[in-house]
Amino acid sequence: MDGNLAKELSFRESVNLMFDRAVALMELPPGLEDKIRVCNSTYTVRFGVKLRGEIKTFTGYRSVHSEHKEPVKGGIRYALGVNQDEVEALAALMTFKCSLVEAPFGGSKGGLCIDPRAYDEDELERITRRFAYELVKRDLIDPAQNVPAPDMGTGEREMAWIADQYARMNTTDINAPACVTGKPPHAGGIRGRVEATGRGVQYALQEFFRHPDAIAMSGLNGTLDGKKVVVQGLGNVGYHAAKFLSGEDGCKITAIIERDGALVDEAGLDVEAVFQWIKANGGVKGYDATYVANGASALEHDCDILIPAALEGVINLSNADRIKAPLIIEAANGPITAGADALLQQRGKVIIPDLYANAGGVTVSYFEWVKNLSHIRFGRMQRRQEESRHQLIVNELERLSQDSGIGWTLSPDFKESYLRGAGELELVRSGLDDTMRSAYQAMHNVWRSRDDVTDLRTAAYIVAIERVAEAYKAKGL
Ligand code: NAD
Repeated sequence: MDGNLAKELSFRESVNLMFDRAVALMELPPGLEDKIRVCNSTYTVRFGVKLRGEIKTFTGYRSVHSEHKEPVKGGIRYALGVNQDEVEALAALMTFKCSLVEAPFGGSKGGLCIDPRAYDEDELERITRRFAYELVKRDLIDPAQNVPAPDMGTGEREMAWIADQYARMNTTDINAPACVTGKPPHAGGIRGRVEATGRGVQYALQEFFRHPDAIAMSGLNGTLDGKKVVVQGLGNVGYHAAKFLSGEDGCKITAIIERDGALVDEAGLDVEAVFQWIKANGGVKGYDATYVANGASALEHDCDILIPAALEGVINLSNADRIKAPLIIEAANGPITAGADALLQQRGKVIIPDLYANAGGVTVSYFEWVKNLSHIRFGRMQRRQEESRHQLIVNELERLSQDSGIGWTLSPDFKESYLRGAGELELVRSGLDDTMRSAYQAMHNVWRSRDDVTDLRTAAYIVAIERVAEAYKAKGL
């Protein structure tokens, strides 16, 4: 391991180092590398909210990493550990993520230092509206300039409050709902956004398993069917990824790691039942499976695929040499530190990097933003027309079969699925699948065609940085 990795780097330093590894293999015009690396600005706000008879002061951030495309895009996180270093690292990742999946945005991120579980719904609404007010009045929430989305600790509910707060402050803005994505469908959201990041993790793995050379690099074989999977974090991303992989691809979820410990079952855990258990009991403890109090130790379990889907830095210099999974997919942002990344690579592990693996969220956020700006639901104009054209073919086939005396009949299942026009959810999934496939292929081509690129992360950064550089060059910077 090189000397500067002997100590653990901060999240921001880790992202910078990963960026540096990629640009060392690129030929960028002098100075452009620095321009792309730096975070353009970070706004820190401290505000008070009167709660339970006293004024509580909160600290929040909104960081803009790159404005080579606008609006800039990135989630808002609610967690006690939120700090400037973390928000800037996440904003930088957003720049590269958007570029990799060709979502036309720059990178941004926000965060509020708060434990959302310590407040009731009314209190959270007041805190969220006040935070949104501070950001809106500085154009740090705006459909044309800066569009937040959910992240750890936030979801549809918070996004609906933010959208409403913006609308109250911009009463004549017809595009107001486009100021934030991840809203509930009845408040201007899009179907398929809640599941999008986990769905994207599933599509990413499906695409990986379409490439025999990639599978061989990981030392695995076959398909996703029957693969043993360990998931850390059964929140929005982890729950959906685990649910789809076990329910649709035949994976076995052999361990689920949460805040209070891990559940292990070699035969495969029932994801929905565990999820409902956590909702009712606040943790995994007590569920009918083997319970391990030191949850993080389950990251080291023998499995085929490891999915860290909770928080950053969980695979680090202290445990990287004990990780057994041959394939790790970073559903969370930054779950592997730069030091651990180097160690895991030396040990031949294949890592599907965060900037690709969890890009499903921003991809569907992009669809939602377009829907809000066009003021019409995807599929609304075409669906019935598509169905009647399909009906024409079915009628004609049945007529031909009867007239010719062949007597073919179309199976009811075929007819049912062929005749059904695509609604919003089907279109969103199709667009997401297409995006995850093309982004993987771009990354894969660099990984497998260049001798100096030995991992998917460096390949992903090269593809992403190249596109950001092209945008800057085209603008004349
Ligand atoms: P979430 O708040 O819905 O879920 C996080 C889950 O992790 C919770 O179930 C929580 O209990 C669990 N957790 C927290 N600390 C833990 C610990 N120490 N050990 C084990 N489990 C722990 O958050 P989320 O939206 O699912 O985000 C998870 C990760 O995915 C974050 O890194 C986030 O930045 C990233 N991400 C989220 C989205 C999105 O659309 N929500 C998009 C891209 C990336």
